[in-house]
Amino acid sequence: MTNGTTPPILFVDVDGVLSLFGFTPDIRELPGPLHWVDGVAHCIPASVGPRLARLAEGFELVWATGWEDRANEHLPFLLKLPFASLPVLRFDGRAVFGSAHWKLDAIDEYAGDRPAAWIDDNIDEACMAWANGRDAPTLIVETLPAVGLTDEHVDDLLGWAKSIREP
Ligand SMILES: [Mg+2]
Repeated sequence: MTNGTTPPILFVDVDGVLSLFGFTPDIRELPGPLHWVDGVAHCIPASVGPRLARLAEGFELVWATGWEDRANEHLPFLLKLPFASLPVLRFDGRAVFGSAHWKLDAIDEYAGDRPAAWIDDNIDEACMAWANGRDAPTLIVETLPAVGLTDEHVDDLLGWAKSIREP
């Protein structure tokens, strides 16, 4: 369980959280620059970099994304993050775009009995059931894929992390 020195985990999805999609077709200006990753254009606003850096002050960040190792290969550099890499969950080919529950086994295994938060644009009933069934403090934050990670999400997550570390 939690103590004064071990931060809670934050599982971080990429598509729909850092890399945005699903804008209205007539949008005049993209919410961020396009970055080419393995031949696919990703709209990744620079503003999510400082937000992740803030979250790293209150959490152990872990990539929980179908990007797997590509997250470390591209995102710390693209976003000028204050770390070179993060732990990566691997899904053994189970990644399905547009759903999140295929991440549950890997997330549950990594989380163990530690407090954990999870930010993702695809949360379903299986995810909520998992969160509700844990003994350790657990928080799920759902993003809008066209908006992604906001300052409000960061404030909420850091507030939660602080609240569970205070006796
Ligand atoms: Mg996603």
